[in-house]
Amino acid sequence: MSSTSSTSSTSSEASAYPSVAFIGLGNMGGPMAANLVQAGVQVYGFDLSADAVETARSKGVEILTDPLEAVAKSEVVLTMLPSGRHVLSAYQDSPGLLAAARPGTIFLDCSTINISEAQEAAELAERAGFRAADAPVSGGVVGAEAGSLAFMAGGSREVFEEILPLLEIMGGRVVHCGGTGLGQAAKLCNNMILGVTQIAVGEAFVLGERLGLSHQALYDVVSNASGQCWALTTNCPVPGPVPTSPANRGFTPGFAGALMAKDLTLASNALDEQGVDAQLGRLAAAIFSEFAQGPGERQDFSAIINTIRENSDDAGA
Ligand code: NAD
Repeated sequence: MSSTSSTSSTSSEASAYPSVAFIGLGNMGGPMAANLVQAGVQVYGFDLSADAVETARSKGVEILTDPLEAVAKSEVVLTMLPSGRHVLSAYQDSPGLLAAARPGTIFLDCSTINISEAQEAAELAERAGFRAADAPVSGGVVGAEAGSLAFMAGGSREVFEEILPLLEIMGGRVVHCGGTGLGQAAKLCNNMILGVTQIAVGEAFVLGERLGLSHQALYDVVSNASGQCWALTTNCPVPGPVPTSPANRGFTPGFAGALMAKDLTLASNALDEQGVDAQLGRLAAAIFSEFAQGPGERQDFSAIINTIRENSDDAGA
């Protein structure tokens, strides 16, 4: 996606977009920052990792060695960090990003973190006199590189309108889900459905195998019946019926088991906080946490079908 009214520029005055301090230039943040630069946004990037910095620099991102300087120069502070602990620490510790921001700054966190942590981060920013939003993403590294991420945003409508042009550069679909933390809430609810359905589809294929059903026959029936879902029709866990699914390439992600385990743990935390009787969500979190402790950590999460098959064999059926 590209800017409508500005050409690529290194001056924030010449850009139609707010300037951005981009903190966290990893697998996701690096290409997201590069897409902003490509569209004419003035981006000041920072990461603790030398490798991440060099990769982002090679894609045109202006790197600053002092994150506080990046923040002081910017209108939006975008964090794309591994966890809520990292975000809260970056905001407030010794001295944090909040201490360096100028009046009117928007703190925009796109990391996937606990809903309560997203709310705490926004409160910290607002108590310090700034504005805040959460906008986690789905779409993975492929979506980050292509500028086709799905953003789920939480925060006031006014802040959402201001960050929307930036999100539209990095994403293909942007939904304002409501107040602070509700972007995270939408993401975790979605991924809880996804985790549960991927297990259910794997179980159905293994049962079908035992019963003598071919993969193709089961796929042809279910993909046109009430069991139809993304875990089947896009991420089919057996090779053949959907040639682009990870099962056709040895379960190369896709969406790695470690990331699914992380998101389901966050969903499980939210279930506990809210006292919801969601037995399948909690069970899926436990199943993927165990899966991610082995080779599943780096495999697509649809490889959970292998665990189901192996455990079935162990039972001597
Ligand atoms: P990553 O580990 O590749 O990148 C995180 C980066 O943050 C690293 O480069 C690290 O050096 C940097 N970092 C950590 N603390 C920092 C600090 N205080 N200041 C500056 N930089 C710091 O992770 P990722 O895959 O890019 O994921 C980032 C976030 O996006 C996570 O919350 C993840 O759950 C979420 N996410 C990832 C994917 C995916 O497919 N990778 C998909 C959707 C959402």
